[in-house]
Amino acid sequence: MTSKVGKEIDGWCTHCKLVLTHTIEAAVNGKITRVHCNTCRGQHAYRAAAPGAKTTPSRGASSARSRAATASARRVDPAATLASQYASLLRGRTAAQAQPYSTTGRYKVSELIAHPTFGLGAVTGERDSVKIDVLFPDGPRVLVHGRS
Ligand SMILES: [Zn+2]
Repeated sequence: MTSKVGKEIDGWCTHCKLVLTHTIEAAVNGKITRVHCNTCRGQHAYRAAAPGAKTTPSRGASSARSRAATASARRVDPAATLASQYASLLRGRTAAQAQPYSTTGRYKVSELIAHPTFGLGAVTGERDSVKIDVLFPDGPRVLVHGRS
């Protein structure tokens, strides 16, 4: 490639923001260092193409990446499952709607319980007349209720 001073070459004009014909003003070891734009006469460093011009990454690589991302998203995370189960049981309710927990209390499925140690829980089932399943933020527990 001959990059002689005074020769015309297509390049990116930093002033016109277009690929235009430029005239080479300086070249070092065949590498064009300085040009002026034939359109606006502005002098600037030589750029062959627009800045940030796409170097088109291969489609295969990007689709492999998205497949991997989908696969990892599908992998079941037990903590995430518990959190979403807990959130769906609460359905936006807060501790204000919860009943304070007591072994002598009686709780129905889907009611909220405020437990002094485990926190806010949602009743998920009744085991028998004195035991209920309750889901707390850190997991399910069996609590006593209806004790006289
Ligand atoms: Zn220009």
